[in-house]
Amino acid sequence: MLDGCGRTIDYLRLSVTDLCNYRCRYCMPPEGVAKRDHGDILSLEELADIARAAVRLGVKKIRLTGGEPLVRRGIVELCRQLRTIPGLQELCLTTNGALLPQLAAPLREAGLDRLNISLDTLRPDRFAEMTRLGHLSDALAGIEAAEAAGFHDLKLDTVLIGGFNDDEIDDFINLTREHPWEVRFIELMPMGPCAEWDKARFLSGDTVLQKVPALQQIESCGVARRYRLPGAMGTVGLISPVNHDFCAQCRRIRVTADGKLKGCLHSAEELPLRGLHGKELEDAIRQGILQKPERHHLTERRSDTPRNMNQIGG
Ligand code: SAM
Ligand code: SF4
Repeated sequence: MLDGCGRTIDYLRLSVTDLCNYRCRYCMPPEGVAKRDHGDILSLEELADIARAAVRLGVKKIRLTGGEPLVRRGIVELCRQLRTIPGLQELCLTTNGALLPQLAAPLREAGLDRLNISLDTLRPDRFAEMTRLGHLSDALAGIEAAEAAGFHDLKLDTVLIGGFNDDEIDDFINLTREHPWEVRFIELMPMGPCAEWDKARFLSGDTVLQKVPALQQIESCGVARRYRLPGAMGTVGLISPVNHDFCAQCRRIRVTADGKLKGCLHSAEELPLRGLHGKELEDAIRQGILQKPERHHLTERRSDTPRNMNQIGG
């Protein structure tokens, strides 16, 4: 359906947990989040109900996210249920990859169409430093497991962070020479723990084009500007929410793990969906779509949401 600004909304990012096995410095506080009571987060039935209602309203693509979606018990069963929703064209999931060695094959078998794996560095020491709890070898094993399970068109998502990984841009892009992956560089957004970081940490996506002039532009996909190295198997994507404001093309709504509908990642406005069923639930989602904010204000100030990214679903 169309939102209040005439944009088609057909993409739902559905968060299944705010818990995570990592503590990435830009995303979560070092102590993590207090484990909530079971009843505080959406049950698998509620998640499936919301997904069904959203698809009835025109959503064609759902991305499961978090927190780390693979730490949610029942994630494979949820994928199996969502895949049966008539009209849902694409079911995707974003993960840090650490649990893919166990879960990639069952997820594929349950009908998950696509995987995005977040990977901010190819250096083991930096990986441990940024994630606080992670090991690069686990993420690499996750990528391997994903490919072995049949997820060939992987997207690798790298948050560009000045002074942390901007000297690895070449290394990431070189991965596309021999892998059919899309390596995507995402601008760091000022929210949560990184909202007050030094300006030098926040790089424009165009930094990638300056560092690698050989990249040739190809057709865009959604909000990603896309490029390819001559002769490379894979592609490079630039996602620039801050410097190339793509709000006019935004087709998304989000639902947090505690059941709040958000029209915009960066807005403080939230609409509670818990306890609603059938037509009431559909009406609430319709209202949320109609009220979707026109744009964020990241060029003027930090994100307006008081939540950290793991509490929304990136
Ligand atoms: N745990 C999963 C993962 O890391 O892929 C899924 C959830 S995570 C919040 C989703 C994505 O948001 C990750 O690629 C992460 O790097 C990104 N992210 C988190 N905080 C961000 C920020 N402030 N700016 C840009 N991207 C961010
Ligand atoms: Fe966890 Fe993903 Fe946030 Fe890192 S970015 S702390 S892996 S939710």
